[in-house]
Amino acid sequence: MRPIILFDIDHTLINNRKLAPLIGRHLLMKFKILGRKIFNGDWEGFRTAFKPELYALGYLILGSAEEFSKRKGVLERGFFKPHFFRDSVFSDAVPTLKYLKDKAILGIFSQGPRSFQISKLTFSGLEKFFEKRYIFVFPPFKATRTKEVLDKLPSKKVYFVDDREDVARVLLNHKVKVFTINRDNDSPSPAGSIKVSSLEDLKKFF
Ligand SMILES: [Mg+2]
Repeated sequence: MRPIILFDIDHTLINNRKLAPLIGRHLLMKFKILGRKIFNGDWEGFRTAFKPELYALGYLILGSAEEFSKRKGVLERGFFKPHFFRDSVFSDAVPTLKYLKDKAILGIFSQGPRSFQISKLTFSGLEKFFEKRYIFVFPPFKATRTKEVLDKLPSKKVYFVDDREDVARVLLNHKVKVFTINRDNDSPSPAGSIKVSSLEDLKKFF
């Protein structure tokens, strides 16, 4: 049985500090356009420009991951621009995932709104590396759900990759191997976890 590697998303695969300003700038630009439409009394133009953003916002707050594939095309017209997500993938992610895909079963262990996390995987293009049934997303603190996840996995050889020390600490209570990716150079990693400075370092272990 191949080992299973479960990756965190935020700050492990995707740089949220890059993604958030890209979305922010897009919205700012859109607000300027909307302001101009109001100023010119162009209500039809206002409605057309506002609708996709409102739709994207609605999905972000109320949408479900299950309806994501149906809504994908409409979301792309709002602030869910696929290139924002692609441009926010850490440069070491794709080469590492490509390499590991043949050596292990890859999955996700992430926290946050499921709809948003799933959209990050799809729009970034990373989704293809992961096995659908091993994509686990829990709000708000995933580590408390570790046992539930481990019970669903067919292999006893399970590895986690995460950037957060508090998450790693809980994971280590479950007799699994944990890689902590150090994205900020100063983040501590708990004793027992394997600290890596680039995802590419994982290749040495598989
Ligand atoms: Mg993270």
